[in-house]
Amino acid sequence: MGISQMGLLRSSCSALCHGPRTASVLRPSAVLTRQISMDTQNLVARLNSSGLLRSQCLIGGKWTEAYDGKTIPVHNPATGDVLVNVPCMGGQETNDAISVAYEAFLSWSKLTAAERSKRLRKWYDLLIANKEELGQIITLEQGKPLKEAIGEVNYGAAFIEFSAEEAKRIYGDIIPSPLADRRLLVLKQPVGVVGAITPWNFPLAMITRKVGPALACGCTVVIKPSELTPLTALAAAELALQAGIPPGAVNVVFGNAPEIGDALLASRQVRKITFTGSTAVGKKLMAGAAQTVKKVSLELGGNAPCIIFDDADLEVAVKGALGTKFRNSGQTCVCANRILVQEGIYEKFAIAFSQAVQSMQVGEGFTEGVVQGPLINEAAVQKVESFVKDAVSKGAKVLLGGKRHSLGMTFYEPTVIGDIKNDMLIARNEVFGPVAPLLRFKTEEEAIRIANDTNAGLAAYVFTENVQRMWRVTEALEYGLVGVNEGLVSTEVAPFGGVKESGLGREGSKYGMDEFLEMKYVCFGNISSN
Ligand code: NAP
Repeated sequence: MGISQMGLLRSSCSALCHGPRTASVLRPSAVLTRQISMDTQNLVARLNSSGLLRSQCLIGGKWTEAYDGKTIPVHNPATGDVLVNVPCMGGQETNDAISVAYEAFLSWSKLTAAERSKRLRKWYDLLIANKEELGQIITLEQGKPLKEAIGEVNYGAAFIEFSAEEAKRIYGDIIPSPLADRRLLVLKQPVGVVGAITPWNFPLAMITRKVGPALACGCTVVIKPSELTPLTALAAAELALQAGIPPGAVNVVFGNAPEIGDALLASRQVRKITFTGSTAVGKKLMAGAAQTVKKVSLELGGNAPCIIFDDADLEVAVKGALGTKFRNSGQTCVCANRILVQEGIYEKFAIAFSQAVQSMQVGEGFTEGVVQGPLINEAAVQKVESFVKDAVSKGAKVLLGGKRHSLGMTFYEPTVIGDIKNDMLIARNEVFGPVAPLLRFKTEEEAIRIANDTNAGLAAYVFTENVQRMWRVTEALEYGLVGVNEGLVSTEVAPFGGVKESGLGREGSKYGMDEFLEMKYVCFGNISSN
């Protein structure tokens, strides 16, 4: 891609495809602009010369434009800069990506586990060797602070490393036969071509968490990253090619999400859909997958309770709640969405927590010391505003923040709101922003009842020094992940996933491998005859 193809002009965010690339010069529009701390243009030029800033999709190892030439802009949410124009693909390109993935599956699945492992390990090494550049791309297109973005690269790459190791441990089974002349065994085989649809909040890790185990098992993939953050996916795919993962084994298409989704769902060659994103889209995909009875894994939205008991260590609780609430400016599926505080510690906690929140620096992700970036887009800010308005109109009290940040754009003040009730919008839905709602409770039973009173069941957190209570509450919580005196629980070695409407299946760990494997039972008969 040449620098001339980049539209380093300011423009309002738009999900709409533009006309053919030659005609897609973007016009500056009337949106807020502001001085940024780093020269975006120089940074983009540097990333471009590193070969990691790709602006075409990847199909069968070839960097490809949309067949009709249409493009979409990718924005820096902190500034409104258009970083680059990328293809706006649809069903036709997706069908071609599926065909090449199917071709590649026939050979990739035949490699030895040791060979697949070596290439995955090489991919991991390249991700780590390029972590600065990948982190910069994440910050540019997603907005999270650079340090946090590099943290995501380490975390995301770890799924590839773990998968490289686990590839060699995909064991089958031999079952003692009830009949003397038979031998029974179970083979584990790759499911086939996988459609992997991912969100914008972790542009790298949500991909590697799926693609690592898929490739390790012998599957090939068509990745559909969010159109808001496609550049990280393309950079990771470029490094996969460099690592010797064969053309066609990893494909990346994006643009018209429903069309791409429909093509993946309709194809009989795609045998598995793995999705991370909203519960609404997850339900559509699950229904669509029924057409061809595909395997489905879903990592969907959460509504995490963070329960702080009177007997908690206040310092540990404040640190833990801060970590789980404000990571990625509150835009993670495991962010505490409701902070339940027992009445005896409520006032003390509210003061200490608000002080800690107040000290967080907000700004553009490349600025030293910044820990809170912008929200992903205007719609996200409007959602936060509407939830805060609803809560305040029903009697909640803003203890800190509560409005857009003076930096403008999509920056929102880190906010603490007290006196939240469980029937307010903010307690029923993911706020997905830097707003911490505090709910007061009296007893352990009440806390458990409030915590479980939701259709979501992804992550929950408990802060207490009482060991019996730790066990009781952990076992009573209807959630897939529980952090006890800890706000950051995600790791590649542990199973990640939700119950109820938060999803199906698990990612990461040895359990995550099974999602990409079929079991084949084989019965050998008549073995005692010569
Ligand atoms: P989203 O709107 O559901 O989008 C997720 C992905 O689905 C994007 O790539 C999107 O494409 C695509 N998509 C949208 N409509 C589609 C359709 N009809 N067919 C096929 N694909 C479609 O979710 P999001 O706003 O990006 O992400 C935030 C949500 O993800 C939150 O609810 C969060 O809790 C959840 N999440 C869950 C986990 C977890 O592990 N459980 C982790 C991270 C995030 P476009 O972006 O191009 O439209």
